[in-house]
Amino acid sequence: MTKRINNFSAGPAILPVEVLEEARDNMLSLGDTGIGIMEHSHRGKAFIAVLEQVEADCRKLANISDDYSILFLQGGASSQFFMVPMNFLEPTQTADYLLTGSWAQKAAEQATRYGKVHTAASSKDRNFAYIPKTATYSEKPAYVHFTSNNTIFGTQWAKEPETPKGSTLICDASSDIFCRPLDVSKYGMIYAGAQKNLGPSGVTLVILRKDLMGRGKTDLPEMLQYRIHADNESCYNTPPTFGIYFMGLVFKWILKQGGLEAVGAANTAKANVLYQYLDKSSMFRATADADSRSLMNVTFVTGKEDVDNKFISEAKKAGFDGLKGHRSVGGMRASIYNAFPKSGCEELVAFMGDFEKKNG
Ligand SMILES: *Cc1c(COP(=O)(O)O)cnc(C)c1O
Repeated sequence: MTKRINNFSAGPAILPVEVLEEARDNMLSLGDTGIGIMEHSHRGKAFIAVLEQVEADCRKLANISDDYSILFLQGGASSQFFMVPMNFLEPTQTADYLLTGSWAQKAAEQATRYGKVHTAASSKDRNFAYIPKTATYSEKPAYVHFTSNNTIFGTQWAKEPETPKGSTLICDASSDIFCRPLDVSKYGMIYAGAQKNLGPSGVTLVILRKDLMGRGKTDLPEMLQYRIHADNESCYNTPPTFGIYFMGLVFKWILKQGGLEAVGAANTAKANVLYQYLDKSSMFRATADADSRSLMNVTFVTGKEDVDNKFISEAKKAGFDGLKGHRSVGGMRASIYNAFPKSGCEELVAFMGDFEKKNG
């Protein structure tokens, strides 16, 4: 097999090798069924057993109570941008959004189709390089929406935003879900497209408090009502069976690492390798404020576009792929999701050190 290289892609992104190997083995026959995982009916015993196990492992991983439904939907996190307001925002109501990046803005824009949107905080004034420390909420928001990790800008909420008492917190956690411990009971809903930290693209994990789900509109098309998916155990229509299966393997892999505490410690150690180097480098610097830095997406620049480009192209030749930053920030971005090994961060830092010596 071709050697696997250091893949810093922002998404779809690196997945654990042992999980890929197990999926490969079950591609031809799931266990001893003689039928591959992708070939099983979603109504059959074998797949239903998989689905139940995936849900059980998800609950175990994040200590999720029966007050919440766990749904496996399609259409990516981007479909949640409109499904959330479509279900939970009346035309006369206001939803509060914390604008910390492009994905947060996209979510807020979709909400304007259904009701009023209030920007409770924004870090747009400095190109989203920080997480706002304060927010001004509207009178009685239908919900408060935030993006826990800003994939493009390399910032992450250190903890949940402070919100008005009794308000419903909804989170797009697409790029940092299960990267560290998380108290699900603080949330009305958490959603995440799988392709950054959980598995292949094509499945979206939704963790939704049942009482909130119950308040959702009932006059929407079935596919767009959360309750229909919950009532049918995510099998109202054919779910993304392979993605669900794969996500389950990733849950088991995280549990095997020691759960969210252990993965959180590992992610902190990994990110520190990069940030400590960036803080002492005289060529590279991190773009995010120190108190807002992401454990998952490390964004950095040299300050000179031609040097950035030279670095990206030489890094690619040396086996460091996916380092080009998003065009709205420029420079570089090293995405180091759960599956990315610490050794890869150390190798990158060594390469950056060499580059700095030669070009500084
Ligand atoms: C990638 C990403 C999205 C978009 O996900 P899709 O599955 O492509 O719709 C949304 N929010 C965040 C925070 C992301 O990182």
